[in-house]
Amino acid sequence: MATVELDQNKCIGCGTCVALCPANFEMDGAKAKVKNTEDTGCAKQASENCPVSAITVK
Ligand code: SF4
Repeated sequence: MATVELDQNKCIGCGTCVALCPANFEMDGAKAKVKNTEDTGCAKQASENCPVSAITVK
């Protein structure tokens, strides 16, 4: 199972990952955070659409 990581230092809080993949990401104040470190199937799509490449799926 792929592991999901999010670098909050890079995140600009646009909300795209939460919109595309709410099973893996949630907002944490002005930033997003990982709420489930196991890829639920949409984390890669969220990673590809993050404007600052803060999400890693490996
Ligand atoms: S898509 Fe990227 S920049 Fe936008 S909230 Fe998610 S991690 Fe942050």
